[in-house]
Formats: sequence, C-alpha cells, structure tokens
Amino acid sequence: MSQDETQTKTERQKQIIAEARRNRELREKTYRERALKLFPHVCGKCGREFSGKRLKELTVHHRDHDHDNNPPDGSNWELLCIYCHDNEHSRYVDAEWYGDEVPNGGQEPASSNKPFAGLADLLKKKE
Ligand SMILES: [Zn+2]
Ligand SMILES: [Zn+2]
Repeated sequence: MSQDETQTKTERQKQIIAEARRNRELREKTYRERALKLFPHVCGKCGREFSGKRLKELTVHHRDHDHDNNPPDGSNWELLCIYCHDNEHSRYVDAEWYGDEVPNGGQEPASSNKPFAGLADLLKKKE
C-alpha cells in the first residue's frame, strides 16, 4: 500500500460525494422547474403571486414529505412561498427544501431546544 493509493481512494470518495451532491441539486432543480411549469406561480397557502426575481421565494413542497417521490403529474408537489413552507415544516426537522444548506448549520432548530428559555422566564418572574 503506497501513500499514493490512499490519496487516490480519498480523491475518489470526494468525487463520489461531489457527484451525488450534483445529482441531487440537478434533480431538485429539475422538479422545481417542472413544478413551476405545471402550476400557477402562486403560494398554495397564502395565495401570494410570485414573478421575476421573487420567484425564487416560491419553493416546492412534497405533500408526503418524501422528496424522492416526484410523480410526473406533480401530484406530490405543492408550491409554497418560503414563509408558508417554513410553517408547514416547523414541526419537523426537515432539510427537504434547503438541500444541503440547512439553516444554522444543520443543528437543532432553535425553537425546539432552548435549555435556557425557561430559566430566563423564571428569572424575569422573580424580578
Ligand atoms: Zn405563502
Ligand atoms: Zn416541504
């Protein structure tokens, strides 16, 4: 086993990861574009309309929360603006619509785990 071989292995692993990520991005882009072609550019919850630059605020929600389930007729998709989409997912730890870019670096959402939130309230009450 030479050092070269180890390096090649790592390189190959990196390549595989990069490729998987690219495929995923590509797939997400594809279903978003397909969904945008299928549906009017309106949020399914608040009914706001999106066009031009703001269109990127309109995201594809998967009704069954399975982003691998992408039927061509769009029956598993719903167009939601980022705000309504956030609400829809607020009970889940779900990176579906962010891909790899999970806000706050993939840690627990601040809302679900605030060890000191109760403490601050207690202190306030004492004052
Ligand atoms: Zn909305
Ligand atoms: Zn969603």
